[in-house]
Amino acid sequence: MIASRYGHEKAVKLGEMSLEGGEIIRGRVAKYGIDCDLVHGGFFAAFTDKQIREMADGKAHWEKHGHTGLEMVSKAEVGKYVKTDRYAGGMIDKLGGHIHPLNLVLGEAAAVESLGGRIFEGSRVIGLDTGETPVVRTDKGSVRAYYVLVCGNAYLAPLMPEVHGRMMPVSSQVMATEPLDARLIESLLPENYCVEDANYILDYYRRTSDNRLLYGGGIGYGGNDPKDLTGVIRPNMLKTFPQLKDVKIDYAWSGNFALTLTRIPHIGRLSDKVYFSHGDSGHGVTTTHLLGKILGEAVAGHAERFDIWASLPNLPFPGGRTFRVPLTMLGAWWYGLRDRLGL
Ligand SMILES: Cc1cc2nc3c(=O)[nH]c(=O)nc-3n(C[C@H](O)[C@H](O)[C@H](O)COP(=O)(O)OP(=O)(O)OC[C@H]3O[C@@H](n4cnc5c(N)ncnc54)[C@H](O)[C@@H]3O)c2cc1C
Repeated sequence: MIASRYGHEKAVKLGEMSLEGGEIIRGRVAKYGIDCDLVHGGFFAAFTDKQIREMADGKAHWEKHGHTGLEMVSKAEVGKYVKTDRYAGGMIDKLGGHIHPLNLVLGEAAAVESLGGRIFEGSRVIGLDTGETPVVRTDKGSVRAYYVLVCGNAYLAPLMPEVHGRMMPVSSQVMATEPLDARLIESLLPENYCVEDANYILDYYRRTSDNRLLYGGGIGYGGNDPKDLTGVIRPNMLKTFPQLKDVKIDYAWSGNFALTLTRIPHIGRLSDKVYFSHGDSGHGVTTTHLLGKILGEAVAGHAERFDIWASLPNLPFPGGRTFRVPLTMLGAWWYGLRDRLGL
């Protein structure tokens, strides 16, 4: 699909970068000894034969780009990875995996500081001048900078009207069960792989190091949350694991990610000295690591890979400010209906 949209040459170059984000994470965890519960292996779950065919096509595509960790899983084998009878099959990705994301961020922040970097939390940027010497303004003071990288993702619209309309904040909700008996949690996900299903509005879940099941999947276009997060997600969890009907939910939370119309990240320049990156469309853990490196390369004067990404067209959401949320909800409803009907 990327080749048909953007041409063969760009597709090859983008394909060459596809595994790099995960490699950066693994490399940093090893180099800086970051304690973030890194576990290798992911399972993509399919409900229908069509989704299985799409996964097999994806596998063939990614193998051309050197991805060697993919294996199709038949319905009979699903139980090796997930103890549910919901799925028609799936695919494992041995190069995928899961982490405790906050602990990864804290470990990376400590690594930055150990290298002489300084981090200023609680400094909301309220204005940005993008001239020859950019100035970043907060309500407590201003900073003049050689370069500015703007990476506020779904929360950027007030600061960067340029991107408003090309990115939509979307909230996703997650909950965590109480700690489960070790034998129970191991029986649900025997290989400790993380799971995401292939539906348009997908469920994603994994074990935690303290034996909870962390289950996510709600979605709110425009960044709006349902009042009762658990009430939205728990029924999905019980469809997958009815055996958890008596389990307590200890935590539920949400956050916003930035969706682009193409679902491809949007990176570019506001001026020669001000670069931005956002719009990982719900898959930013590895992608932000790749794009962070690419932004760093551009600042260091090697913008070849930055320019490939920046050249990808980023389309506005139809409907403008007023109608983009309801129109996107309508589209999501349609794709969700197709999933429910198995089309
Ligand atoms: C509930 C949930 C579950 C998710 N699950 C997954 C998953 O399983 N796998 C995956 O790959 N991705 C997942 N994502 C998506 C992933 O979290 C994002 O793609 C990723 O965090 C994007 O990273 P980022 O650094 O670009 O933005 P963020 O992590 O959103 O960070 C943006 C930062 O900018 C700061 N900021 C914003 N505006 C300003 C301002 N004006 N001044 C100063 N600072 C500002 C914010 O405080 C924030 O710290 C999930 C997202 C959510 C919400």
